[in-house]
Amino acid sequence: MSDERNYNDNEHTDDREKVCYMCHRTESRTVKTIRLPGNMHVCTDCLQKMIDSIGANGPDFGPFGGFPLWGNNPMNSNNGPMSDLPKEAQEALPEVLDENGNVITPGTEEKEEQPGGPGQGPGPRHGMPNISFINLADLQQGFNRRQQVKKKKERTGPLVDPEKVLPPHKLKEKLDEYVIGQEKAKKAISVAVYNHYKRILAGDRLNDSDDVEIQKSNMLMIGPTGVGKTYIVQTLARLLDVPLAITDATSLTEAGYIGDDIESVLSKLLAAADNDVEKAEIGIVFIDEIDKIAKKNSNRGRDVSGESVQQGLLKLLEGSEVEVPVGASSKNAMVPLTTINTKNILFICGGAFPELEEIIKTRLRKNSSIGFNADLKDKYDEDENILDHVESEDLREFGMIPEFLGRLPIVVTLQNLTSEMLVQVLKEPKNAILKQYQKLLELDEVKLEFEDDALLALTQRAEKKGIGARGLRSIIEEIMLDIMYEIPKDDSIGTVIITKDYIENRGVPRIELRG
Ligand code: ADP
Repeated sequence: MSDERNYNDNEHTDDREKVCYMCHRTESRTVKTIRLPGNMHVCTDCLQKMIDSIGANGPDFGPFGGFPLWGNNPMNSNNGPMSDLPKEAQEALPEVLDENGNVITPGTEEKEEQPGGPGQGPGPRHGMPNISFINLADLQQGFNRRQQVKKKKERTGPLVDPEKVLPPHKLKEKLDEYVIGQEKAKKAISVAVYNHYKRILAGDRLNDSDDVEIQKSNMLMIGPTGVGKTYIVQTLARLLDVPLAITDATSLTEAGYIGDDIESVLSKLLAAADNDVEKAEIGIVFIDEIDKIAKKNSNRGRDVSGESVQQGLLKLLEGSEVEVPVGASSKNAMVPLTTINTKNILFICGGAFPELEEIIKTRLRKNSSIGFNADLKDKYDEDENILDHVESEDLREFGMIPEFLGRLPIVVTLQNLTSEMLVQVLKEPKNAILKQYQKLLELDEVKLEFEDDALLALTQRAEKKGIGARGLRSIIEEIMLDIMYEIPKDDSIGTVIITKDYIENRGVPRIELRG
């Protein structure tokens, strides 16, 4: 009985649900699956990924054992592209066009058409690599085969420069040059980061002493949006000269579901370390929007983007050997993998945690409403720093699982920036926005000045947006657009003074001519 018959027979007799061999999703949860020789089903999504990878990696790519992808195929007696594939698989595949826009039919580039090959039957309409040559046994074993990512580079210096690991007070001083306010957070982070890298620098010395094991100082940063969470981490990574990956927890899902695999956070770190595994192993990963993976209070099915992601992150946070897809956001057969040890990677999670304030207030009110020390009910309503009272039980109530919280021993809170602080953000940091614009206009030999009440009016507009310092840049860019457009027209302008009226659209900037 031919292979073809076999497929069809099974098609009729086997009514079990088809499961994609690669992503393990059932046909009801994914798009249609296609049957490949070897009684293997692959969904069209994964098939597409396979083909993309073949295209991207050239004919000698790993599991294909170096067989030519195009043209004459030793494993396919017909030599016809896709002739072993069922019709539906052939039709699910994209066309490949040459530079003139013509469909390339594999196997025809260098030789004449062969019987059963291109041009015969409906299949070869699509130009696509002749995948019927795949050695399936090879493929099945190859799925777990790790591939060499990058040859080890000759390292000249140490991974972490001891000179850059400054004591906490010096680190904070450096942070102060860039980050306004957030004193407590800067202090806590400077200590945590210093301890973390001191532990790495101590390295073997630490391992030799058998008694005490110093734990990692992973961190959780809680604070509204635009108050400097990411900025603090970015500044620190730059000061320490270690690779940094900034990722977003919202895109993460449990493996096999649509979304990024949890290990993809390490893929980004690896990319930031220029594919140098050892360098990545001492880097920093900042996972933003961590509150979005709180447990969902629903009984409908698995919580694949909430609790499951927290579970998945546990082993990363704790420190273990993790298989990481290189240059991709999810693992599949065609993506090379490498192993990264997360023991020395510093994980910092950040989130706005809306409603956490209410949870804290409710707890505090409950605790203080009985006995002689009973407080007034509204005592906490006016407290602007209510986040400072956060306890692990509040975060659990919010939806973070205890195991996850246990791996983030340091919790820091950040405050909303006041108008005065926003003015400072505009003026004071080393790379303050105003300084940047002043520098730009200086190139045209024009001075740029802002009146104090103009700055205040500007920050009040930003405050209304409710996105902290993040809103400042867009407002100032809008204000400066006309000025940057008009100034180069007139050589006589010496100074531009931005007034409150101009910010509030009630007037024009004051101009002083060159003296
Ligand atoms: P988030 O807290 O949402 O992570 P970011 O750290 O990304 O906010 O802040 C956005 C931008 O606002 C930063 O790139 C930085 O320029 C500015 N910024 C925010 N907070 C501060 C601050 N405390 N001091 C100086 N600049 C800040």
